[in-house]
Amino acid sequence: MPTPRPLTRRELSLPVPAWLPKALLDRCGGTVYSLFRFSDAERAVLRKRRPEAPSAWAEKNRIVRMSSIPGRWQNIITPYLAPLLDGLRFPGVEMGIICKGPQTAVTEGAINILGHSAEHAPGPAMVVYADKDTAKDIMRDRIMPMFEDSRRLRRYLTGAVGDESTIRVNLRHMVIFLGWAGSVARMGSRPIRLLILDEIDKYPESRKEASPEALAEKRTITWRGRRLILKFSTPTVENGPIWVAFTEEAHARFDFHVACPSCGAMQVMLFDGIRWPEDARDPEVVLKDRLAVYQCAHCPAVWDDADRDMAVRGGQWVERGSGLELFSHLETHRPGKIGFHIPSWLSYFVSLSEVAHAFLKWKKSGRLKDLKDFMNQHKAEPWQERRAERQEDAILALCDDRPRGIVPGPVDGVPRVAALVAGIDTQAAYFRYVIRAYGFGETEESWLIQAGTAQAFSALDELIWKNVYRDAQGNEYRVKAAVIDAMGAPGRTKQVYAWCAKRPQAMAYQGKQNQATPIAYSPLEFFPDVRGSKIKIPGGLLRRRVDTTFFKSDLAEKLTIAPGDPGTFWLHSDVAQRRNGVEHEGLLLDYAREMCAEVFNPETLAWENPKQKPNHFWDCEIMCLVAAWELGLRHRRPPGKDKQAIGKATPAPMPARNLSAGERLALRRR
Ligand SMILES: [Zn+2]
Repeated sequence: MPTPRPLTRRELSLPVPAWLPKALLDRCGGTVYSLFRFSDAERAVLRKRRPEAPSAWAEKNRIVRMSSIPGRWQNIITPYLAPLLDGLRFPGVEMGIICKGPQTAVTEGAINILGHSAEHAPGPAMVVYADKDTAKDIMRDRIMPMFEDSRRLRRYLTGAVGDESTIRVNLRHMVIFLGWAGSVARMGSRPIRLLILDEIDKYPESRKEASPEALAEKRTITWRGRRLILKFSTPTVENGPIWVAFTEEAHARFDFHVACPSCGAMQVMLFDGIRWPEDARDPEVVLKDRLAVYQCAHCPAVWDDADRDMAVRGGQWVERGSGLELFSHLETHRPGKIGFHIPSWLSYFVSLSEVAHAFLKWKKSGRLKDLKDFMNQHKAEPWQERRAERQEDAILALCDDRPRGIVPGPVDGVPRVAALVAGIDTQAAYFRYVIRAYGFGETEESWLIQAGTAQAFSALDELIWKNVYRDAQGNEYRVKAAVIDAMGAPGRTKQVYAWCAKRPQAMAYQGKQNQATPIAYSPLEFFPDVRGSKIKIPGGLLRRRVDTTFFKSDLAEKLTIAPGDPGTFWLHSDVAQRRNGVEHEGLLLDYAREMCAEVFNPETLAWENPKQKPNHFWDCEIMCLVAAWELGLRHRRPPGKDKQAIGKATPAPMPARNLSAGERLALRRR
């Protein structure tokens, strides 16, 4: 047999099978030569590339069109992004979580990861934005230009198509789906290798189904071990998706430590280090004249914006727990999910004076919205929830050591309690109630006796009218008045009126957000039945229309009184009475939570329940206050005390129209 010709890349030689007819055998000389070539797409997939870090790839291949610095990507502009993006491609890392301020170029960084993946880790990719318009804009202005402008990426491009729920970029060797939060559920269930979730805190919440990010993440499961999920956002509230992911999901959390250009000391830049002249109060002046600087934590040097950029260029990512630099930590601990925190003042695109401006703007306006903007957009931290948590602790700090159901007794023979009152929140299937003891006099010291749930009117009768409550010495107390919500649930109104009509100490309540007087009275002789026809209420009834803003502001003010100071709003002990030798703490946990559900919005001058959390006990306490007001308890003196100042219980002054809740409160306190 003749020796075969040496193989070239495009040729394949095969020994000729011996059973071929001789004529044929002679014609091909004993060896068949076949020309062979991989298609372009096959070559693209099979080509072995030298590994290349995303940051190095970006400097070679990424052109940025939409930027204040258009042109070739430069890592030096956003020095914190280069190691971050390289860290995402470290073996074993499957998820990156970035909690960031706006203008930190993270969206562009994620697009670099997409381009890098097309060359170095191809596989189906999905990028999800908050809404359709954003997705279209980013597609048109950033993603397509990246492919068109790069010589290496251009040859993969075959076209893009859009439909109702996704825009699809077809590459020769992979597909990129661009979706938006509302469309994820409709985007089918194709497996995804690279998933990018942009601004996840802006995704609209869906009550019916799992969150868009959870649905999208599910689709990466088949690529486990080789997938990358990248989620990032400016945070909003503490239980928003990005903050939850950053604090609970991440296996490692990194802060960017910068190097002082003067002394070289490494440090995390904090808002407290940003300084501006003490007499500069006007946010616009601080911004216009670029008055803010950064004070190094280790030497007297102050940095202007240019020094700050230099400090950031010398920086590195350091893990919070281990204190190790990013790649040392990745080598040593091999975390699968890594989190990064990027406050705005690390960014070249944000002047230190802009940060000071945002802060001063809030100081000047006092509006919660400005504080929220500052916290979210500059500190890259949530704010609201932490406040509420502290409030819960503050509520529980008002507990004394009385067991549930026990009234505070006399001190030195002088009784402390003027009357017991009750507030009842009406629900469709049950009631929540609070029984509270009010003291004498205008400080209105008060004690929680009992709070809980009653299943029916008969249970309310038992708890409120039949039960006798006692202090430690055995003195007996009964509830003097109860206020019950008549509008709490559809269908309940009639029942509440009927219940009140037969109990002279029960008052029907209707909350109004704002009215001219704290309480207005509507006599009722009839109530409508289901068909709308009038039914006579035996004996008639007085419905109280109550200015809830007024009483809620009063209650909120009472809650801020330090335990032991005059007018303390006491709770009973948080520890359940000893049963079988076991003490249970947390008796008042639900109570404390519900007391924190509502917040005052200084913009609308109204109390709001932003998260629609349960607030039944809060409403009950409002109604207890109304009962105490109606009994005139603040004008009563304990028996045996100096009577000269008392006279008849004088009605509280009726405030004039158009006063704010605060002003009306001040009027009442006079
Ligand atoms: Zn220094």
